[in-house]
Amino acid sequence: MTPTYPPEPFRIKVTEPIRLIPREAREAALKEAGYNLFLMKAEDIFIDLLTDSGTGAMSQEQWAALMRGDESYAGARSFHRLKSAVDDIFGFKHFVPTHQGRAAENILAACLVKPGQYVPSNMHFDTTDANIRARGGRPVNLVIDEAHDPGNRHPFKGNMDIAKLRAFIEKVGVKNIPLGMVTVTNNAGGGQPVSMENLKAIAKVYREYGIPFFIDAARYAENCYFIKQREPGYENKSVKEIAREMFALADGMCMSAKKDAIVNIGGLLCVNDETLFQNVKNELILREGFPTYGGLAGRDLDAMAVGLYEGLDEDYLAYRLGQTAYLASRLTEAGIPTIQPAGGHGVYVNAGAVFPHIPNYEFPAQALAVELYREGGIRGVEIGSVMFAYLDPETNEWHYPKLELLRLAIPRRTYTQSHLDYVADTLAKIKSRAASVRGYKFTYAPELLRHFTARFEPL
Ligand SMILES: *Cc1c(COP(=O)(O)O)cnc(C)c1O
Repeated sequence: MTPTYPPEPFRIKVTEPIRLIPREAREAALKEAGYNLFLMKAEDIFIDLLTDSGTGAMSQEQWAALMRGDESYAGARSFHRLKSAVDDIFGFKHFVPTHQGRAAENILAACLVKPGQYVPSNMHFDTTDANIRARGGRPVNLVIDEAHDPGNRHPFKGNMDIAKLRAFIEKVGVKNIPLGMVTVTNNAGGGQPVSMENLKAIAKVYREYGIPFFIDAARYAENCYFIKQREPGYENKSVKEIAREMFALADGMCMSAKKDAIVNIGGLLCVNDETLFQNVKNELILREGFPTYGGLAGRDLDAMAVGLYEGLDEDYLAYRLGQTAYLASRLTEAGIPTIQPAGGHGVYVNAGAVFPHIPNYEFPAQALAVELYREGGIRGVEIGSVMFAYLDPETNEWHYPKLELLRLAIPRRTYTQSHLDYVADTLAKIKSRAASVRGYKFTYAPELLRHFTARFEPL
């Protein structure tokens, strides 16, 4: 019998102590950080669900691989070991390592995006969004409407709306679209997967118009496992076969290896086009490093080469997606609304529904993030108006995202079920006093990626 929530397919060999500091100390820490959890000291956090990015536990094989790191400036063995894994799994003609996913995005935007041009996707993640805007481009999100309905249990809520995509291309014209993207899984929309059927339809439209197709592949393995579980015809294929089928549809991809490659630092940029690859390498050399290390140490490349395969392991993926499903089900039992079904890497609490009395411009999800720390020393991240509201340069009006979410991202292979029980119990306590919680206002906010450095004051 397969358990509903498979136990960890590993046991713990090294531990790292964590502690819950007293309530008064938590209160002082919040104040000191301007109520921005990004600005807190990690040692003051008990359970850190800020992100699943670079926060996973490496395996014994990855730690062993670090020792094999070849730190040669050019042509290191580490690069060739990574290359053989990348070629095997993704199948693109060329690739470069980068220090993170956003470095790959920056290079891609630098090579392709000109001011005033549009880049469609299901939903861009914040760094992708900002890298396109930083080049004067305009990121456009064309996810299906179901994605905005938190209770809708559509199995592939990350899908792009193909009719909207066509209409959009017709409206702005092909020459104003230097590339088209899709994010798997859709991080900004709840870690929801994109179906193979939808990926094929996206690829077909982009190809028809001659628009290069790039996949933001940070969580491709989780997406492929969802395809195996939910899409007819894929139940007997391996996750790796599904991945090959997915990437064969695209002209390239960028990836944060800090997600499904289970490393603490690293990224990838893959392309098929020869000329683009030349330009990519020139940008890389300018900003990251020589093309065989791309801003990383040789040992990082080796850890990534091993982690890419571990991220595809199906026992691991069953346990991993089981963890998020478990936390979501505990919250549902406690009457706390989350995006349904649970995403791959985290649970997204619908903070707008927890605090219906707090309007979006007073940041209900930020308020929930602060309460979760105040109550239990737990750190989540706001994915709502702090992160995504923006001033439209054309209309000079503020645009607010459709949902105010608190993301509880689960680091890979790091926390156990009893940690998740504690998180669910803490949220239940907050819910019981929800009506007394107030919103926040900015005391400082930069123009781009403001959630990282903004400061707040309670209202
Ligand atoms: C994390 C992430 C990125 C950016 O990667 P970094 O390694 O943090 O720079 C881009 N896209 C998605 C979908 C991500 O989750």
